[in-house]
Amino acid sequence: VGEAEKNLLEGLDPEQRAAVQAPRGPVCVLAGAGTGKTRTITHRIAYLCHTGHVSAGQVLAVTFTNRAAGEMRTRLRALGIPAAQARTFHSAALRQLRYFWPRVVGDAPWNLIEGKLRLIGQAAHKVGAPTEVEVLRDLASEIEWAKASLVSPDDYPDAIRRRHRTPPVPAEQVVAVYQGYEKLKNRAKLLDFDDLLLHTAAVLEEHPQVAEEFHERYRCFVVDEYQDVTPLQQRVLDGWLGQRDDLTVVGDANQTIYSFAGASPRPLLEFTRRFPEASVIRLERDYRSTPQVVTLANQVISAARDRPAGSRLKLIGQRPAGPVPQFHEYDDEPAEAAAVAERIKDLVDAGTPLSEIAVLYRVNAQSEAYEQALTEAGIPYLVRGGERFFERQEVRQAMSALRMASADAPEGELPDLVRRTLERVGLTAEPPTGGSARERWESLLAIVELAEELTATVQGADLPRFVAELETRAAAQHPPTVEGVTLASLHASKGLEWDAVFLIGLVDGTLPIQFADGDEPAIEEERRLLYVGVTRAREHLWLSWSLSRSPGGRRHRRRCRFLYGLIPDDHPTARLVRRDNNHNHTKGPAAKLSCRVCGRSLVGTVATKLGRCTDCPSDVDEELLSKLRDWRMTRAKELKVPAYVVFTDATLMAIAEQRPTD
Ligand code: ATP
Ligand code: MG
Repeated sequence: VGEAEKNLLEGLDPEQRAAVQAPRGPVCVLAGAGTGKTRTITHRIAYLCHTGHVSAGQVLAVTFTNRAAGEMRTRLRALGIPAAQARTFHSAALRQLRYFWPRVVGDAPWNLIEGKLRLIGQAAHKVGAPTEVEVLRDLASEIEWAKASLVSPDDYPDAIRRRHRTPPVPAEQVVAVYQGYEKLKNRAKLLDFDDLLLHTAAVLEEHPQVAEEFHERYRCFVVDEYQDVTPLQQRVLDGWLGQRDDLTVVGDANQTIYSFAGASPRPLLEFTRRFPEASVIRLERDYRSTPQVVTLANQVISAARDRPAGSRLKLIGQRPAGPVPQFHEYDDEPAEAAAVAERIKDLVDAGTPLSEIAVLYRVNAQSEAYEQALTEAGIPYLVRGGERFFERQEVRQAMSALRMASADAPEGELPDLVRRTLERVGLTAEPPTGGSARERWESLLAIVELAEELTATVQGADLPRFVAELETRAAAQHPPTVEGVTLASLHASKGLEWDAVFLIGLVDGTLPIQFADGDEPAIEEERRLLYVGVTRAREHLWLSWSLSRSPGGRRHRRRCRFLYGLIPDDHPTARLVRRDNNHNHTKGPAAKLSCRVCGRSLVGTVATKLGRCTDCPSDVDEELLSKLRDWRMTRAKELKVPAYVVFTDATLMAIAEQRPTD
């Protein structure tokens, strides 16, 4: 074994090593969050390249967000194989289409659509469907779902009936708008994001020479976060593979959080059915988080219903002990945000870098209070969702201004030149307040910082060189980053990690989101979102919520139902305001509020005594449970500690239900 290979295998555990060294062919790594799946596949790619099994240029690694793809590229570069491609499905498809399109269609490549809602609005207007912007947004997501699920307009009514899916407007109207939108879009020679994948799949299926050329070019495929693959993405992947089977997939069914958009963990869980000879590797050791965070993560996910076989993985913490996760309740949102900002300040003072801190939330609108609190506290931050950086209007303006400036070859230091040029497109010295103005400012600042970085790392970096660098990055969809605390949605946080994570706004109606109520699979997806959030933290984890939106408002919000059983009963935050059927505010133990199995509210229903609704089956050994409780009390008295220190309620229940415990 050469030096390079030895280095690649060092720092991997035996199971990870087995995945890295598995022969070329189908490989499936099924494992929980933080067990090193992404690390394993990047090492596998490097290993296959360094041992000469494949050349770096023949590798195509795909994942789902630009940030994750960027992360993978960084890791691959660090392992000495910058030529291996790591992209999102969409950017891989876009690149391939640009290449094949002129030959296949005989036309200049079509443009990506801007103003999709406008087109959907036109289509809706034509068929007499509602045209309010919220409805148009729902229609857009519905069409996206249909396309990602390979459901044509004609099949739509049947498909939603089979899946018990409720359309946003009557199904016939969805069909008519879907058809109208496609027609308008094609007439204008535009492509939406799903079209990139649809056309790529179609080209590979219908043009054997193109497929052959492609198969010659790419020979080794790797998919990260495979639990969130859609049927459409799977079809593209199948087109890429052809008759071959050199495919490594990794994923965690407990982190499926895009099923609302058509994603399904099935291809992951049924991988061996498709490839019976596949090497299957399971990882259990969690290298990311402290055992305290790992325990909480296990608790969150062990309460999930109907976990398919293959997703019942338990994490075993490997890191030294750290601080226990903290739960905090506030009277109102500004108080919550101020407390979070205060705590972030402490962390920064104690040496935690800004880039190692994240505030995560369920919906983007939640960021506002935090932006304000962080601004007031003088803490720099960046708002995620920051995808498609190079498609933003201000970035395009900035690039054309820089291009022009680089042509009248001005004198001066590069960062200075860039800053002065960008002042012309709106860069100010001080950050403006307000969501979108702030985001624009951040984009421009990111470009200036990139110029500073280039000046520091490349000798003789000048404006033309900088413009070229920007263009390379634009083609590779590789946005620059700003140093600051990350504000991101839980969805956007997938695959990432930070030393300190704040999960904020954990109230019912936000997490789980209101429209999931009464829809069990949707509620379960919300639970998985919390699991994704918890598992982002390396060390510090802070979970918080507030009882009212604004100061002095009615304190009628309820803490996120999934936290039940995680917070010790005599913890100060176990105090909860409950609204009963008569709208009286009464204080009561959290246990009475929601079914601990399905999470549905128990207020106004007949609750069973173990905190379950009557619909949910219980296989609790009640005798064992009562024995366990007695034992816990005795033990707690002996140790002179509160009962939950011995065992939490959730653990007792788990034992009584004979589920795996921590
Ligand atoms: P997720 O499901 O959230 O995407 P993951 O399984 O992809 O998680 P990684 O991001 O690959 O996990 O790894 C989590 C962290 O653990 C990273 O910081 C990684 O460097 C570290 N890590 C992984 N394997 C090992 C190991 N064998 N020894 C030490 N650290 C490791
Ligand atoms: Mg990962």
